[in-house]
Amino acid sequence: MQNIFKNKYLDQKKLVKDHFYYLVSNFSELNQKQIDNLSINIVKNAQSYKAGSPFSKLIHEFSLTSNEGIVLMCLAEALLRIPDAKTINDLIEDKIPIGDWKKYIKNDKDLFVNISSIAFLLTGKIVQEKVEENKNILGKVVKNLSGPILRNAIKQAINILAKQFVFERDIKKAIDFSNEKKHDKYTFSFDMLGEAAVTYEDSDRYYKQYEQAIIETGKGKNPHKKSISIKLSSLHPRYERNKLDLLKKELFPKAYKLTELGRDNNVDICFDAEEADRLNLSLFIFKEIIESKLIDEKYQGFGFAVQAYQKRAFFVLDWLKKYLNEVNKKINIRLVKGAYWDTEIKIAQEQGFTDYPVFTKKFATDISYLACAHKLYENENIFSQFATHNAHSISYIKTLFKDRDFEFQKLHGMGDEIYSYLEKDDNFKCRVYAPVGGYKDLLPYLVRRLLENGANTSFIHQLKTKDFDILKLVQSPLTKIDKLDEDKIKKPIEIYGDRKNSKGLDLSEEDVVDSLKFNGKFKDIKAYSLINGEDIKSDEVIDIKSPHSSTTLGKKYFADEKISEAAIESLKEYSSKWKNFPIEKKVEIFLKFADLIEENTNDIIEICAKESGKSIKNSIAEIREAVDFCRYYSKEALNLFQTQTLKGPTGELNQYRMIGKGLSFVISPWNFPVAIFVGQTVAALITGNVVITKPAEQSSFAAYYIIKLLLKAGLPNNAIALLLGDGALIGKKVINDKKLKNVIFTGSLETAKIIQSTLQQKENIPTFVAETGGLNCMIVDTSALTEHVVKDVVNSGFDSAGQRCSACRILCVEENVYDHTKHTLIGAMKTQQVGNPEELSTDIGPVIDTEAFENINNHIKKFDKVFQIDINLNQGNFVPPTLIEIEKLSDLKNEVFGPVVHMLKYKASNLDQLIEDINDLGFGLTLGIHSRIDKTIDRIVEKAEIGNIYINRNMIGAVVGVQPFGGYEKSGTGPKAGGPEYLKRLCHEQSISNNTASMGGNASLLSEVED
Ligand SMILES: Cc1cc2nc3c(=O)[nH]c(=O)nc-3n(C[C@H](O)[C@H](O)[C@H](O)COP(=O)(O)OP(=O)(O)OC[C@H]3O[C@@H](n4cnc5c(N)ncnc54)[C@H](O)[C@@H]3O)c2cc1C
Repeated sequence: MQNIFKNKYLDQKKLVKDHFYYLVSNFSELNQKQIDNLSINIVKNAQSYKAGSPFSKLIHEFSLTSNEGIVLMCLAEALLRIPDAKTINDLIEDKIPIGDWKKYIKNDKDLFVNISSIAFLLTGKIVQEKVEENKNILGKVVKNLSGPILRNAIKQAINILAKQFVFERDIKKAIDFSNEKKHDKYTFSFDMLGEAAVTYEDSDRYYKQYEQAIIETGKGKNPHKKSISIKLSSLHPRYERNKLDLLKKELFPKAYKLTELGRDNNVDICFDAEEADRLNLSLFIFKEIIESKLIDEKYQGFGFAVQAYQKRAFFVLDWLKKYLNEVNKKINIRLVKGAYWDTEIKIAQEQGFTDYPVFTKKFATDISYLACAHKLYENENIFSQFATHNAHSISYIKTLFKDRDFEFQKLHGMGDEIYSYLEKDDNFKCRVYAPVGGYKDLLPYLVRRLLENGANTSFIHQLKTKDFDILKLVQSPLTKIDKLDEDKIKKPIEIYGDRKNSKGLDLSEEDVVDSLKFNGKFKDIKAYSLINGEDIKSDEVIDIKSPHSSTTLGKKYFADEKISEAAIESLKEYSSKWKNFPIEKKVEIFLKFADLIEENTNDIIEICAKESGKSIKNSIAEIREAVDFCRYYSKEALNLFQTQTLKGPTGELNQYRMIGKGLSFVISPWNFPVAIFVGQTVAALITGNVVITKPAEQSSFAAYYIIKLLLKAGLPNNAIALLLGDGALIGKKVINDKKLKNVIFTGSLETAKIIQSTLQQKENIPTFVAETGGLNCMIVDTSALTEHVVKDVVNSGFDSAGQRCSACRILCVEENVYDHTKHTLIGAMKTQQVGNPEELSTDIGPVIDTEAFENINNHIKKFDKVFQIDINLNQGNFVPPTLIEIEKLSDLKNEVFGPVVHMLKYKASNLDQLIEDINDLGFGLTLGIHSRIDKTIDRIVEKAEIGNIYINRNMIGAVVGVQPFGGYEKSGTGPKAGGPEYLKRLCHEQSISNNTASMGGNASLLSEVED
């Protein structure tokens, strides 16, 4: 399996050229004519195929890039699940007028698309009117938006669209329907609708559905012709690689049991393929099943899907060849291209992976599909199943497999026009993937199909495009091989153009997982203040303890007044030199520093986990943010510190530039011991200031380690001093120093106020940049998708044990969906693992210290309606994720810095009041909005006095240079960290006007002038 693991991010050009090209081109050359002829015949037949589905007409009518295509998807996704009439009206009103629907109304007979174009008015009175008359309906529709008839009509139209995809509502009906004569030529794989489970309750429900489906299918006629498709993500709410041990106990047995049931009932089982980061995990499960006694000569109905768009597909099939031979067992493999392409690209960019796990050229996926077909052909132990609607792929495979048994597969509601040509063949075998379930569960599936098939590159989409070139459509993907070099999609590391994206770690990969088993490198550690680059011992020696265990990690030496004074003195002389140190050289140092941080990622993760109780995932995010700060501020500073020559009268040189101010004091918090510490320190230094940096007492070692790296990167020793220790003691000394010019602080509002009042006593007016906390809300209306909301709340409220200033503290949910949201949220909270942050599987670590632990618990005790998950931990500062129901926003006055989310019910009619109340809290840091209705979103955004607003996503993890971060009022002074204004606040402007004519007159003017 090593080959599978190590090739996830292989270069696509190398892979296509080295592994696929000869295999596919040799076969193509020999069989070119046959493949071409068959492809052309399939397409010609499809063109004349009459029974086109409303769905296929719809997807080729509306390109995904058009407003109308997007509106279609939004409506389809949201309409059927919204419980209240008002929100349905709002959604329709919101979406329908956006599109230029008139342009889709034509005089041909395509009534469905015409009607859909005028707001899906497929039923009721309007459907009976003539097409010509329908052209005027749009006006009427938009005017009468609130009418219940219209609402029902549109809902009905979406229902018809949904019906296109749902085979039947329950498994018994599906079996009966599949046995009807008209389906004689096809076999079926029933897919029990439902997406990834969010709670254990969901996964139990899905499991029972699968169980029933297998038993019922087994009872039906010709059971061997039927199979069941299963999504592993629906069988467990935490189907993630980092949960391997848990999944071995909770998911593996379920997959095993369902396969056993398949065997007992003579029903084939196929596990669907899902996201790339689940591949290894799924293979571990499949391997266990294959090796078990379930798979033998009697039962060869077990199988799974392999996605050819993944670079590893070829290696998976390579492995299967050797492996199945060794164990001498037979299975089915369904080869698909893959359905999550857009998601894979986004994840890789967000996570800063080295490359993409999927191809970025559609033709590369197509070639991979063919190369994989060869691998399957070579394997006698696999019954091959080809799931595609692409005429060229089909023709190639039919030609390749002419002497072997295999089957094609198609999706219910799609590809009929393609496969109708092949139905006449004697050995025609095609299985229909048939979704079974209620329309409500269909929506995510429907959206995926719309996305996938509405894409410009999709074969089905192109087939439906007017006047397409048939030869171009069916040409071999090899004809585009030269385009491998012209990749429009930049590598994840390059997405910011002139600034490198920070590198992430792929926690689903085996070598990464192995590298994160800490080997005790950080024991007996020592953290010192640093002056002139030297460790400063002191008499105040304190144990460094982990917040999650009683282990003593080492010792930290806190600075006293004398050491603080010495630190200030050590910088004064160098201040002017550093101010005038060339910006290019400064930037070199900070870019080198960023690289050093990346090189030492594993050390820093271990330090964050041990000293600050940060989970491994959070520690990685922390490191990436620090690296991004270095690179972003470097780029900004290079621009900012260019001297500008301003226009003016002749004989004068007028210049404008930025310069450092002098002594700056950086005070950073323990909750981001690396990211904020680095961000603030680098910003102060790169703007030409000498810096005293004082980390939180709790994260002293991380700070010491980081400053050592900064010095190693080349920062002159006396541009910085690190002071570890008590904030009040060190603060008093530094803040009172006459030379102090900037104070850059992140921490509590209380401390910010103390600093502010001390600064007010000073003669000069130093700059004070403060980033404090927030009482952050998320507003959820009834158009939001509950599962999505819940995932985002869990992430925003409980991640980092709620110890983020951006964390979601109050979840405000519209009354119609309140109970359902609460129920699902509690279910999702139960899936969170609280414990040792040094373990990869841990979601939530401890709070920082016993004081925080007590404060949070005292807060929780004040409320009656409290839900907490059980955690059986008898040591460490662990607070269980907690949900508290509150009656009104004013029940809360201050930020509670822990894993506590408060939940509030509101009425849609009171939304404006809710926004006002949120503003009245007096904080303005982050706000989450979950709604599908643009007008609602705009209304909230317009009124909210909040620094960072997040729409239909979680509300934490602001990315440097992408979501500049910081709030207003009690949340801070601004400017936003990681934003374009930050550096400007820390330096002075200087204007230099030089009378160049004062010495020897204006010679240049005289020499420039011509007669
Ligand atoms: C019976 C059946 C079962 C299925 N089961 C699964 C499953 O378990 N898991 C799953 O993920 N999918 C599954 N699918 C969906 C399948 O992946 C899609 O239907 C398939 O992508 C469409 O392929 P095609 O050959 O019909 O169309 P084509 O139009 O030839 O191919 C489209 C595919 O190309 C890929 N693509 C698009 N743009 C690019 C690009 N720029 N770079 C690289 N690749 C690109 C995408 O994967 C896209 O889906 C199943 C499909 C069927 C028919």
